Amino acid sequence: MKRNDFFLLGTILLLSVVIFFCYRFIPRQNGDLVVIKENGTTIKTFPIEKNTIYTIHAKNGGINVLQIKNGFASVKNADCPDKLCVHQKKISKKGETLVCLPHKIIISIQSASDQPESDNESSNSEESFDGVVQ
Ligand SMILES: [Zn+2]
Repeated sequence: MKRNDFFLLGTILLLSVVIFFCYRFIPRQNGDLVVIKENGTTIKTFPIEKNTIYTIHAKNGGINVLQIKNGFASVKNADCPDKLCVHQKKISKKGETLVCLPHKIIISIQSASDQPESDNESSNSEESFDGVVQ
């Protein structure tokens, strides 16, 4: 009896570890952060799984409206002359980008884990990121 309990406990523990790792590593391929950069500096990040509409005010007065919907990010609207960013297709995979050259805005998909690759100042991104989510 006791042995069985231990066995059960062990299995549950093992399972939770496996689930934890799957949970953490599988979504990574799809990327889980939408990162907005202006002129190479990260100005804002959003979790991609959360539907969001965010208006980016570029330093040169331009506006881009970022929409995150059902795991896809796109530029819903912008007042740049070429509107190329608006016409780019939705992005959802790690490494994909939306670029607005006139406003110097780059929206990219990243994994929370390799965030530091991008930038210096937003230190400890995972922790601060969690704070934002709450
Ligand atoms: Zn644009």
